[in-house]
Amino acid sequence: MDSGGRKTESEGRKTAKYERFGLTLVVNHACNLRCSYCYTGAKFNRPMPDAVGDRAIDRAINSVEAGGELELGFFGGEPMLEADRIERWIGRARERCRAAGRGLTFGLTTNGTLSGEIAWRVMTDPGMELAISCDGGLQSHDQHRVFPDGRGSLALVTDTMRQLRTAGKPFRTVLVVRPDTVTGLPENLSWLRDVGVEMVDLSLDLWTDWGGLDLENLRQAIRDSIRDWRGRCHEFGVNWFNEKLGRLAGARVRKETARCGFGAGEIAVAPSGRLYPCERLVGDDTANSPVRLPGTALEGSDFLSIRTFPGRSEAACSGCAIESECSTTCRCSNYVRTGDVSRPDGLLCFLDRTLFRETLAALADGLPRSSENPQTSEIHEERSQQ
Ligand code: SF4
Ligand code: SF4
Repeated sequence: MDSGGRKTESEGRKTAKYERFGLTLVVNHACNLRCSYCYTGAKFNRPMPDAVGDRAIDRAINSVEAGGELELGFFGGEPMLEADRIERWIGRARERCRAAGRGLTFGLTTNGTLSGEIAWRVMTDPGMELAISCDGGLQSHDQHRVFPDGRGSLALVTDTMRQLRTAGKPFRTVLVVRPDTVTGLPENLSWLRDVGVEMVDLSLDLWTDWGGLDLENLRQAIRDSIRDWRGRCHEFGVNWFNEKLGRLAGARVRKETARCGFGAGEIAVAPSGRLYPCERLVGDDTANSPVRLPGTALEGSDFLSIRTFPGRSEAACSGCAIESECSTTCRCSNYVRTGDVSRPDGLLCFLDRTLFRETLAALADGLPRSSENPQTSEIHEERSQQ
């Protein structure tokens, strides 16, 4: 099997279909917010044409083996600006997957400020795996997540989360951790818990410098946050802590997703139809982007002959005592930090070591065993989006 769960016929020649295939449609570059730390490039209106999305969905389904599953994601910009297209693509994917005998999951991350009629139907679709971007209390969130006129977006996001809870729709929250807000992490997690959020995906800002006291602040914030979290981990999940706790407590690792296939079983399509190994690398989608894959969504009948990339190199981490437990295997994160998909940098290494050490300390202080904790009884290999 290769890293994307695909059977290989011989070295260098891979022809069999995938058990799971992850397709992310970047539905528009436009966004109604102007978050200061946004990494998705310039904001301009270029909606994905129906034909590009249709063809990409058909090619992705053709890349999944019988009985396998398509994981369909929507990204932007702000995906909810294209809620009507997303609703149509979900309907089409459902029909096509049913007819082809393939399973389907779908999900998106939204900034939570658009909840018109169609957007609401998309968000509350029973099959939708929904994530809302929210950085916690007023100070952190509205410091960065603002409208073009500078107004903060927290009030609208909070209202959307309240309405979703009232409607009984489960959702996750994505919280960006960055140097200028990291010291507020324990309070921001408490704030989210107090407004009824049950699962938080922490997302480290990889597009900024972490220097000076930033790493020490990150260490302290993790230590304090784990202390707050440990008594409530049954009802309040935090991806960083759940993942490490699960590993340390001997949870069964379940390959849940095609995510992090990075071309092998996972592909992102820009509104132009150009192909990328990960949606986080689409950016402005310029023709000469160094990470762009050959071809477009409109050429070909499947995604089986996409270029593959190496995993984390032996040389990068040889001799490390926690190598087998370390999560620095995301090629995209490694690429963003070092320009090399197979090599994490000091920041990614520091984060993993700190989570390992601090979660171990919390475990020694008497966290529930994995069998008693539904949040950690299995590790789901997932990646959060901003
Ligand atoms: S981070 Fe998301 S919500 Fe904020 S400007 Fe970028 S695309 Fe829009
Ligand atoms: S990134 Fe750091 S902690 Fe992870 S395996 Fe490599 S050396 Fe070890």
